[in-house]
Amino acid sequence: MRLSSTLHRGLVELPPPPGPVGMYVCGPTVYARAHIGNARPYVVFSWLARWLRLGGYEVTLVHNITDVNDKIYEAAPGASAELAARATEWYLEDVGRFGLDEVDHLPRVTDTMDAIVAFIADLVERGHAYEVEGDVYFRVASFPHYGRLSGQRPDAVEEQEPNPRKEDPRDFALWKGNKEGEDTWWDSPWGRGRPGWHIECSAMAEQLLGPSFEIHGGGLDLVFPHHENELAQSRALGHEFARIWMHNGMLRMTGDKMSKSVGNIATIQEVLDEWGRETALVYFLTGHWRSPIDFSDERMAEAAARADGFREVFRNESQPAPPDAWARFEAALDDDFNTPDALAFMHEWRDHELLRRALDVFGLASLAEAPEAPPELHELARRRQEARAARDFAEADRLRDELTAAGWEVRDAADGYRLVPRP
Ligand SMILES: [Zn+2]
Repeated sequence: MRLSSTLHRGLVELPPPPGPVGMYVCGPTVYARAHIGNARPYVVFSWLARWLRLGGYEVTLVHNITDVNDKIYEAAPGASAELAARATEWYLEDVGRFGLDEVDHLPRVTDTMDAIVAFIADLVERGHAYEVEGDVYFRVASFPHYGRLSGQRPDAVEEQEPNPRKEDPRDFALWKGNKEGEDTWWDSPWGRGRPGWHIECSAMAEQLLGPSFEIHGGGLDLVFPHHENELAQSRALGHEFARIWMHNGMLRMTGDKMSKSVGNIATIQEVLDEWGRETALVYFLTGHWRSPIDFSDERMAEAAARADGFREVFRNESQPAPPDAWARFEAALDDDFNTPDALAFMHEWRDHELLRRALDVFGLASLAEAPEAPPELHELARRRQEARAARDFAEADRLRDELTAAGWEVRDAADGYRLVPRP
């Protein structure tokens, strides 16, 4: 199994199963209903965890909730904790609808405060951070590999968080002293305040996965400064932290008419209400995780048609696939988790057992479950077969019409008939 790593600028081999494979995937900052783009890392890394587990790996998947942040203070002045709690529930409800259920831990910043403060204290003690009037900043000059992940020369890194109190424009906040209007705070050796965004993830990841683990995932927009800073904080303390850094491509809103969306925004909730989980999952399969993926009504309609194509396979008789079919599917996923190639193979298959097994990897086994017609309709279908056997075609046609009116199509099959719901 090999995976593209931003840090290595290429493919990196995973150790053989069972690993273990610790995976940390950056989660949302909770202050509003999450955008469909936020679902991509959730879906892609849930699938990857599932695929690794099926391959015999011992996987621990951690996906955090950032429930202390400037955006939350701005969105709900005086009531930030209430908004964060509500928006956390929205997020869990929305992604829960995908039915993937692979995440082992969902740590929240507000539950990790002791570990965060201890992490910062360690950095200060070892000279990698310094306090200025209740704030604590990471000293970028103390970590010579800074910039390696995002490909910037250490002496030419963009300025972050402009602030004249910093020693160096490249430095970033680990702890921020409480400011007017911020209605939550925690005690620390540097006074009341709250953590910076980047240190939260270093602390949550290491608390649950240890100082060294295999995979760190997140959107491409997190490479700099977020992940560059996470890496610096942890490696400055001599922890390997994540070995492989996977960044999924962004979701691009395209197309003229975005139904139910204003200003190019579509939430996970809106997309699932409009298209359903199966179509949404098939849509994500169509793009390689590293590439950007376009979102439009046209792309979603295309995904819906693909999902229907799979349903149709199970309404017809199974036909054996070539003996190497599964091996080719497996090879596509083991080579940088290429879901578009895997999907293309699946569309060729008419073998029910094989296709059901592949769909199940992506939480799509439901596409293989043809709805069962009620017994009274089976009775009509049986009478139609008898009428045909007796060459009473008028009666056979009448019974067919009755089934049609009930919303079912009767199809002749070698072993009798099949009842298929009409689209
Ligand atoms: Zn993070």
